[in-house]
Amino acid sequence: MSPIQEVNYYFRKAAKVMDLSPSVERMLVNPYREVKVDVSIHLDNGDLENFTGYRVQHDRSRGPMKGGLRYHPTVDMEEAQGLASLMTWKTAVMNLPFGGAKGGIAVDPGKLSAPELERLTRKFVQLIHDIIGPHTDIPAPDVNTNAQVMAWIMDEYSRIHGFSPAVVTGKPVDLFGSRGREEATGRGVVFALEEYLRDAKAGEIKDKTFAVQGFGNVGSWTARFLRQRGGKVVAVSDVGGAIRYRPGLDIPALTEHVKKTRSVAGFPGTEAIGNDELLALDVDVLVPAALGGVITNKNVDDIRARIVLEAANAPTTPEADEALTERGVVVLPDIYVNAGGVTVSYFEWAQNIQQFTWEEDKVNTELQRHMREAYATLARVAKERKVSFRTAAYVVAIGRVGRATVLRGV
Ligand code: NAD
Repeated sequence: MSPIQEVNYYFRKAAKVMDLSPSVERMLVNPYREVKVDVSIHLDNGDLENFTGYRVQHDRSRGPMKGGLRYHPTVDMEEAQGLASLMTWKTAVMNLPFGGAKGGIAVDPGKLSAPELERLTRKFVQLIHDIIGPHTDIPAPDVNTNAQVMAWIMDEYSRIHGFSPAVVTGKPVDLFGSRGREEATGRGVVFALEEYLRDAKAGEIKDKTFAVQGFGNVGSWTARFLRQRGGKVVAVSDVGGAIRYRPGLDIPALTEHVKKTRSVAGFPGTEAIGNDELLALDVDVLVPAALGGVITNKNVDDIRARIVLEAANAPTTPEADEALTERGVVVLPDIYVNAGGVTVSYFEWAQNIQQFTWEEDKVNTELQRHMREAYATLARVAKERKVSFRTAAYVVAIGRVGRATVLRGV
């Protein structure tokens, strides 16, 4: 299944529980707008190179569309469609006043110099500036994009439209970014797990072992917060390899190692393991925090964790999701678990619009409140309807988007 087919599979499963009419169902599934652009730039050596950029705007019934920009060779229209609709359901689960969008450029940014990356980003903004904006569509960081890329986007958009910090979120704190945004997704992932453990009376983080796939923004902050709460992160991986240390990794020291060497591989005192092996470790909680489609029908029988905490977007394919749920593995779904990032993006946007800044404590307290309230709603729906957390999350989201769509009129 392609990414969009996967999201729509989950959507339809929830729609069935809700008795949606086929026409409303179609209206909610179809994207509002899809854009594909040729992003040609001169490389530092003078050669002309062509890249393809995408922006899919899925739904705008509940507010300006919101979603990340990804720079990765696998970016294509189907991936952007899937992730854009995921954003619609995610913002609705969290009850944020936003719709959903997603985009990116098919590029391996590791092969570009910083000036090339800047030219690529600015060119992309020149091509899509008329469909994004503080009240239309607000991009944010995703895989291989960061605060610097957001700063270039803000600057280029502001050159065309006048000063507009609220056009993107995830900006540097020195340039109208929000305190606490960088670590917000990881912090939210850990809040989500705490909510579940408390509700299910399933113990505490300090008694649990974890394997984390991916050590970028989301994976590294999640690992750090887990360790701060006494959790034992026994294995992590990134694109350069996977490592294991049974007594629990020293995450701040590992972060320093990654800063120097650009990979977790070779962290002194650890054992090198295969990336597939990491997914199959006998741990309490498996945290996929890299790319989508990593738990599939090919490896689902190997998964031994009791909880899958979906920090990445769409890490579990529908077949694998069914198999895990049947086996009694608790899957805490992406559209709730990793929503801390978009929630603090909402705080950043609100601060920009009001030209006001919040203290970091306020950001973190408000994030926890939002994660708590969203959990309470989805846990209630899961119990009432006797469905998985994922289906419950979609039921909540579809209900909110559906009601807004109908109230606004066709
Ligand atoms: P990132 O670019 O900072 O990090 C990605 C990490 O994954 C890197 O450590 C990379 O080496 C690793 N990786 C890539 N391919 C891998 C592989 N085959 N095996 C193991 N590791 C691999 O990206 P990020 O922002 O941390 O995003 C990670 C995931 O979280 C994505 O699915 C993204 O959509 C999702 N997400 C991110 C945010 C956010 O705020 N950044 C918010 C919500 C969801």
